[in-house]
Amino acid sequence: PISMCFGVATTLGSGVSADELLRRADLTMYQVKATGRDGVALYDKAVDEQVQENLTLLQHLQLALRVGGLKLNYQPMVDLESGLPIGAEALVRLETPDGETIPPDAFVPLAERTGQILALERWVMREGLDTLRRWQQQGLEHRLAINVSPTHLERGSLVEDLLSHRDRSGVDLRGLTVEVTETVLLQLQDRASTVLGRLREAGVRIALDDFGTGYSSLAWLSRIPIDEVKIDRSYITQMVEDPRCLVLIRGFVGLFRELGLRVVAEGIETEHQRQLLLAMNCPIGQGWLFGKPLPSGKLPWNHAAPPR
Ligand code: C2E
Ligand code: MG
Ligand code: MG
Repeated sequence: PISMCFGVATTLGSGVSADELLRRADLTMYQVKATGRDGVALYDKAVDEQVQENLTLLQHLQLALRVGGLKLNYQPMVDLESGLPIGAEALVRLETPDGETIPPDAFVPLAERTGQILALERWVMREGLDTLRRWQQQGLEHRLAINVSPTHLERGSLVEDLLSHRDRSGVDLRGLTVEVTETVLLQLQDRASTVLGRLREAGVRIALDDFGTGYSSLAWLSRIPIDEVKIDRSYITQMVEDPRCLVLIRGFVGLFRELGLRVVAEGIETEHQRQLLLAMNCPIGQGWLFGKPLPSGKLPWNHAAPPR
């Protein structure tokens, strides 16, 4: 099939040269192209400036997507009571040719603005599901969580990609959790609930990530299909010093549990925090106290004997 992507730039009021005009149209066209769909976009100066600033980073990212260089680390999620792992969250990193490791906060937003996010998250999904399938083959019941951006939910083919991976590899999607942020709920309410609903039909669980950092109302509780809520690290960090924060967390945990949602506390770094969370019946935790993000081969449960 023929596809068409247009980038539009104008000379209106800017007095730019013909070369510059073409460069702008070209850049804009590539933004459309990178979304993986037909479409048209108008040149955006703000995007251009960010692209220029981040040109090197963008080149690293493009290279990594083409020839490899993305790495997936896994951070354990544990049963707070026993401290035993119940799964892990996949967190992406970018390794540059000179051996530097770049954290996701530095390049994921750029990937979103420039349309690379679909390719990036498709890679994360495939890599993550391969790992999940290995766990399942070893007889482990650990869950894997992946982060999915609003753009991916809106424009990607997440459900189709997951199902085709499952048909090819035999991975059981009931072991997968997809983490979305409150932004998703704000930006694309109807479309999001459709995609999230289809994910759930496929057996995937949905988690709301970084809960408490956005401005979204709690209306989603009745509207959007959600299985799990992850309380943001900022609350856990302040909990010990700020009694009001403690009251808030206790309220969240009680509310979510009564609604039948799984509750995860993010960013637990101290035993004291763990004890406070246990006292308020928070069942699951994640944080440096239990383990930093690690390559899959270095996970504690991977030392188990390989399948025969
Ligand atoms: P997140 O999904 O909320 O992931 C948790 C982040 O908190 C991770 O940072 C993790 O390393 C960090 N963390 C966990 N426990 C602790 C702790 O005890 N103390 C401290 N100080 N930090 C802790 P990381 O790996 O840098 O990832 C940052 C964010 O990047 C993630 O936040 C997630 O929003 C995003 N991200 C990572 N991979 C992807 C991806 O594949 N797609 C998308 N859209 N975003 C991703
Ligand atoms: Mg997450
Ligand atoms: Mg989070």
